[in-house]
Amino acid sequence: MSDAPVSRGKFLRSLGSSMTGAALGTGVAVAQALAARLAAAVPEVSTASTSMAQPQPVIEGTLAPNPFISRGSSEGKRLALTFDDGPMPGVTDRILDALKQRGLVATFFMIGERVSASPDLARRVAAEGHEIGNHTFTHPKLNSLPDQQAALEIQQTQDTIVEVTQQRPVCFRPPFLAFRKNQAPIAHGKGMRIICGDVDSRDWSQPGEAKIIETILLQATAGSIIICHDNSPQTANCIAQILDKLLEQGFTFVTVSSLIDPV
Ligand SMILES: [Zn+2]
Repeated sequence: MSDAPVSRGKFLRSLGSSMTGAALGTGVAVAQALAARLAAAVPEVSTASTSMAQPQPVIEGTLAPNPFISRGSSEGKRLALTFDDGPMPGVTDRILDALKQRGLVATFFMIGERVSASPDLARRVAAEGHEIGNHTFTHPKLNSLPDQQAALEIQQTQDTIVEVTQQRPVCFRPPFLAFRKNQAPIAHGKGMRIICGDVDSRDWSQPGEAKIIETILLQATAGSIIICHDNSPQTANCIAQILDKLLEQGFTFVTVSSLIDPV
């Protein structure tokens, strides 16, 4: 793509390499002045869409641009394990058991209609100290919905989670990570940050326990937000092994809110 965004470093390197010979003295000064202006004006993550009206859907599996949060600070060896699409009887409870046995916390991005269907399980998640996030009411691709309908999906879920668990989500994850940047104010306006992740276990495709374990262990780093699903039986089968291996590697488990807002 000819109009692809160019990183500040790359731009400055190309600028520097074009400054040669007699023009070098003034060229360097100009480049330095420009660099200072760019440093002040250009955010670290810049995309071509910021100045254009064209919405840019987030494509699942890609590194998300702002305002989507993909990971936390790498200070300390902390990570946030997240589970989407529950609560699911027979799966969520097994994951809760494994976390409880080890005294660990995680974040559960719940689907509103599943909270209504299994309120006791949703209450157990809250009672055991985990964070509950909003994952819409019916799990649609929000980027293809009108804003009003997207807002309703999010609000209905928020109301249901508050009513059932007494916990008000401050984190929102769009299903399929399909959300337009210009839809971000819908979530922000309801007091929620938009959470993606930097490790996708791909457990939704049921690739086998060994593959799920391998993906997570190979990709988890300090500050990671790991995406799993608590409607995935394979994940429930291998979660104890995953937790033990990550503990062996010295990771501390925190909720997403704690990871992105360290106290
Ligand atoms: Zn989902």
